[in-house]
Amino acid sequence: MSGSETPTAKSYDVVLVGGAMYGSSVAWFLSNNPDFDGSILVVERDPTYEFTSTSHTNSCIRQQFSREINVRISQFGAEFIKNFRQFMGNDPRVPDVVLQSYGYMYLADNEGFAGILQEAQKMQAALGAGTKFMSRDEIARDYPFYNLDDIVGANHNLIDEGYFDGNTLFDWWKRMARENGVEYVTNEVVAMTKNAGGTRVGSVTLASGEEISCGTVVNTSGPRAARTAAMAGIDIPVEPRKRYTFIFSAEQPLDRDLPLTIDPSGVHMRSDGAYYLAGCPPDDDLAVDYDDFVQDHSIWEEKVWPTIAHRVPQFEAIKLINSWAGHYAFNTLDQNAILGPHTKVENFIFVNGFSGHGFQQSPAMGRGTAEHITYGEYRSLDLTPFHFDRIETGIPFDEKAVI
Ligand SMILES: Cc1cc2nc3c(=O)[nH]c(=O)nc-3n(C[C@H](O)[C@H](O)[C@H](O)COP(=O)(O)OP(=O)(O)OC[C@H]3O[C@@H](n4cnc5c(N)ncnc54)[C@H](O)[C@@H]3O)c2cc1C
Repeated sequence: MSGSETPTAKSYDVVLVGGAMYGSSVAWFLSNNPDFDGSILVVERDPTYEFTSTSHTNSCIRQQFSREINVRISQFGAEFIKNFRQFMGNDPRVPDVVLQSYGYMYLADNEGFAGILQEAQKMQAALGAGTKFMSRDEIARDYPFYNLDDIVGANHNLIDEGYFDGNTLFDWWKRMARENGVEYVTNEVVAMTKNAGGTRVGSVTLASGEEISCGTVVNTSGPRAARTAAMAGIDIPVEPRKRYTFIFSAEQPLDRDLPLTIDPSGVHMRSDGAYYLAGCPPDDDLAVDYDDFVQDHSIWEEKVWPTIAHRVPQFEAIKLINSWAGHYAFNTLDQNAILGPHTKVENFIFVNGFSGHGFQQSPAMGRGTAEHITYGEYRSLDLTPFHFDRIETGIPFDEKAVI
């Protein structure tokens, strides 16, 4: 922890544990809601955000999910991104955020997976998404740089799908939340105290020793979510897992955008301005230490480069420019969000487990969480499929499109 600050009060209506993308999304949506007039404290252990998922993200958005609710969440995400200034109250200081819709290219190397993609395409199109199933010949026509020898088809969508600068959303949510009266302190929540019945968290204890009473406590701790939940005696299946990102240049750049291509090998790649970005999980995809961000260069040499050069032969001649390892807050049950109040500790709210699609979901999930805190129910999208009861029953939220 890089210092500590004391909150100005001893008690807050809402205390958020973590102030990165989700802490700031919830803080802004809540403080911007005219029906909410409570006090909000955001406790953030590292205001440089150096080791957060938020700083290591690839910041892409897709409509290509297999569950309707995830499509609707991304549809609101795209609407929010494209109309960012209007959503931020038409404040002239707020910049435009561009959604670069070069689309995802979800490749299938067998008929079984192509069938799954076609089912998903029908559902996405019925909800208004622009996803199209492409045969191998159609892919070759539109993107002649791919080697498609082992590919039978793909889903592709050029509307509201691609890259956006999510860190601009984060910066402005934080700034405007503060202007709305939200207090951010550099400190760490190290313990929680519950009432005698164990049904409520009464206070959080900070690393600097203060005990702060809270009406509601919100877990926005990213990959450290299980640690924060454990302070309230709650188990959640969220662990830090490494994801590698590589930025490279090509000796002969492609003559058009490279869609965010999901290769059947599990490696993905896309255009990144004048460069290209590739990413993948390690072969042994296990929980790592919270502070372990060591890069593994053999993954580039032995896995990523061979895979991308196979898929795009022009990428035989490329140069690695930059790389990093980041942590997913990986939900081991189903790699989807855990939201809403705990079933017994009723003022403990989850905003956790987003795995690889938390950036794009931050507008809808932040809005929904703020609604639930304010009204005790969702007023826009019904997000109850993400609630904690599925963790207790062990029944996964069955989303097939997980990256
Ligand atoms: C490599 C990579 C690529 C990704 N690509 C995409 C993508 O293309 N599209 C997409 O939608 N999503 C993507 N994601 C996911 C997305 O980045 C995350 O879901 C999102 O950033 C999570 O934000 P968060 O606020 O929950 O977590 P974090 O950004 O990790 O923030 C949690 C914060 O809580 C603080 N904290 C923790 N414990 C405490 C405590 N006890 N007291 C005080 N503070 C505490 C931490 O310091 C941290 O600042 C990617 C993630 C990674 C790692």
